[in-house]
Amino acid sequence: MSGAAAEDVPTRARRAAPLTRREKSWVVAAGAGPILLAAVVLLPVALLTSITIGDVLSAAFVYGGLLGLAAAFVATDRLQARQCPRCAERQPRAGEVCTTCGYDLLARPRYACDERHVAYVDDDGDGRCECGRHLQRLPSPRGVGPQVVATLKVGAFLLAFLLAIGVILNVMEGRL
Ligand SMILES: [Zn+2]
Ligand SMILES: [Zn+2]
Repeated sequence: MSGAAAEDVPTRARRAAPLTRREKSWVVAAGAGPILLAAVVLLPVALLTSITIGDVLSAAFVYGGLLGLAAAFVATDRLQARQCPRCAERQPRAGEVCTTCGYDLLARPRYACDERHVAYVDDDGDGRCECGRHLQRLPSPRGVGPQVVATLKVGAFLLAFLLAIGVILNVMEGRL
């Protein structure tokens, strides 16, 4: 739709840019961490009980791997959240306002028309979508973060719970 004078066209929200090599290594570390942790936690269990090292390693890969996948997912989400959605500049962790373009990183205002064709990151009050409809502010998008973090905690608890059950069963077997 071209028609009205080409005045200020609202800026489109950007998709997250690909992670840098350094950021990718953080994601890998977040994914591998739980596997190593599970192995370290389980090894003494293997020494104390009749569980073999092989069992320990496979359990570490299964449980640690599941946690690791979730952790890597959260890490990716957090790293991408540090990119300014307006200018794509990477920002320090606790930044409140983009140092490059001044975008409000706390409120992260986004705008779209009724049909939600395209998300924009600014609106002078009279901004219009490509389709010509007026832009409205979207409810603030709080990403997957909190839910996934909660899931991770449940996962860690389950791992500890299963470990405890395993140890108790083994100890009881030894006594019988
Ligand atoms: Zn910016
Ligand atoms: Zn539209």
